[in-house]
Amino acid sequence: MNGFQHLYIPGPTNVPEPVRQAMNLPMEDMRAPDFPDFVGGLLTDLKKTYRMEQGRIFVFPSSGTGAWESAIQNTLQKGDKVLMSRFGQFSLLWVDMAERLGLDVDVIDVEWGKGVPVDEYAARLAADKEHRIKAVFATQNETATGVTSDIEGVRKALDAANHPAMLFVDGVSSIASIEFEMDKWGVDLAVSGSQKGFMLPAGLGILGASEKALAANKALENAGMARCYFSFEDMIKLNDTGYFPYTPATQLLRGLRCSLDMMLETGMESIWARHKRLAEGVRATVDAWDGCELVARGPEWHSDTVSAIYAPEGVDARDVISTAYYKYQTSLGTGLNKLMGKAFRIGHLGSLNPVMLCGAISAAEMALVDAGAKIEPGSGVAAAQAQFRATTPNVNAPVVKAA
Ligand SMILES: *Cc1c(COP(=O)(O)O)cnc(C)c1O
Repeated sequence: MNGFQHLYIPGPTNVPEPVRQAMNLPMEDMRAPDFPDFVGGLLTDLKKTYRMEQGRIFVFPSSGTGAWESAIQNTLQKGDKVLMSRFGQFSLLWVDMAERLGLDVDVIDVEWGKGVPVDEYAARLAADKEHRIKAVFATQNETATGVTSDIEGVRKALDAANHPAMLFVDGVSSIASIEFEMDKWGVDLAVSGSQKGFMLPAGLGILGASEKALAANKALENAGMARCYFSFEDMIKLNDTGYFPYTPATQLLRGLRCSLDMMLETGMESIWARHKRLAEGVRATVDAWDGCELVARGPEWHSDTVSAIYAPEGVDARDVISTAYYKYQTSLGTGLNKLMGKAFRIGHLGSLNPVMLCGAISAAEMALVDAGAKIEPGSGVAAAQAQFRATTPNVNAPVVKAA
C-alpha cells in the first residue's frame, strides 16, 4: 500500500496525530495518589463539550452502546412506558434495546430520510394527561441516513405539554461536532462515544446525566432494573474520590485529555461551524452528481456530520464502496439495513479539513464512474472546491503586525 488508507466513515474517525501521541505512553497506576487530579479535570472539561454545568458525566470503558444501556438501567424500571421513534439503523437498535430491557415502548415509525416527528411527540405528550410516559427518546443524528433532528423542538414539546418525562438523547454522532446544548435544551441523559466527534479510538462510552436523571436514579434506591457494570451508584461513589470502580482505559483517558484540550482551545461554536462548512461542500457535490441524491428528505434534516447518498438508479452502492476501498484506498460508509446496495455514506466529522474531504469526494467520484454511474468526472470535486473556496476561513494566515 502506498501513502495512507483514507478513512471517511462516520466513526471511527481520524485520530489527530497529537492525540495518537498522547496515548503512546507507558502503563500507569490507576490508583496513584495523583490520579484524582487528572480525573477531576477530565470530567469537568468533558462537561464543557456537552454544554452542561449541572449534573454529572460518566465515562465507561465501553462503546456508545454501553452508555445507552446505562442510561436506561439507571433511571427507568421494567414496564415503564417510553416514547421513541425509528428512522434508521441506530434509532432502530435503540428501540430494540429498550424493548429487550423490558420497557413498554411506544414507537413511531418514520420514513427513513426524516427524523424525530416533533409534532407527533407533542400530540402524544399532550394526550398523556396521567403522565404515564416516563421518558422521551430522540436520536439527534441518525448516522445511517445522515439525518439530524430538532432536539430543542422535543424539549419545547415537553414543556408545552407541561410533561415531566425525562429526555434521552442519542448524541453519539453529533455531540462534539454539531450544536448540542445539554442544559439549555433540558436534556436528561445524553449518550456519546469516543470514536466519533471526540476523535479517539472506540472504547469510551460517555453519558451526561442531568440533576433530574440523577434524582430518578436515587429514587430507584437500588431497585429498578438489575445493573452492575454500568451502575451509576458504583461509578458515583468512586468518581467522587477521583477513581473508577474498575480498571479505567487510561490510555484512552490520556487521549481524551488531549482531544479535549484541542476542542476547548478551538471553541465548540467554531467546531460546529467547521462541520457545517464541510458538510455543505459534500452537499454541493451531491447536487452536482447526476442521478445521486441525499437520503435526507430535505434541508431541515441535513446532517453536518455524515451524508448518506443514494447511488444512481442501476448502480450498486456496494460496488462503489468496494472499488473505493480496493482501488482508491478509501473507506466510505456502507448502506445499513434497507439502504444496503442503495446508498453509501461519507463521514465528515472529527478531525478533517476541506482538502481531505476533496480526496474522499474524488475517490467516491472515481468509484461511482467505475461502477457505471453516468456522472461527469470532476463535477462533484469541482462543486466541492467552489464551495470550500467561498467559505473556508484563512485560519493559519500569520497575523501581520504593524512595524
Ligand atoms: C455509532 C453510533 C452508535 C453506536 O455506538 P457504538 O460506539 O458503536 O456502540 C449509536 N448511535 C449512533 C447515532 C451512532 O452513530
